[in-house]
Parts: sequence; C-alpha cells; structure tokens
Amino acid sequence: MAKPNKKGPSTTVNVYCSQCRTRLFNYRKGGKGALVKCFKERINEDYTTTPCVCPSCNRLFAREALIRGTPAYKLIGGKVFAK
Ligand SMILES: [Zn+2]
Repeated sequence: MAKPNKKGPSTTVNVYCSQCRTRLFNYRKGGKGALVKCFKERINEDYTTTPCVCPSCNRLFAREALIRGTPAYKLIGGKVFAK
C-alpha cells in the first residue's frame, strides 16, 4: 500500500473521456474517492493536444484552475472517468 505524503502518490490512474473513451491523462492520484481535479505536476503523461479538450471529440472536459497556488485542472463532472 502506498503511504500518503511520502514522495507524492505512487498510484497511477488513466483518465478517459466519458464520451469517446479516449485516454486523456496518466495521473498519479492521491487519496481515495472520485477524481475531481488533476494537479498538473502529477500528470505523468498528457495525451491531449489542447489543454482541457479531448483530442478525439473536442469536448471540453476540465477547466484550468489554481488550487492552493498549484496549477491544476478541475474536471467537469460526468465528462471523464478514471480507472
Ligand atoms: Zn472525447
């Protein structure tokens, strides 16, 4: 089991577009529960070509935001799923 706050989370998840199932990010997820935001520094692989837009169906799936001063994407509910 990964310990929290050791050197950041080590569990990775893939984030997909809920409409066309294109992979958007490979992300080091911390904690449990639903994925509602992605810190940019934790994204291992970014498969998008335009930030926050699915490269396949061009749907906006997130908005850029600063969370406690850290650049992040706030995911729009229902537009992505992670596994
Ligand atoms: Zn899509």
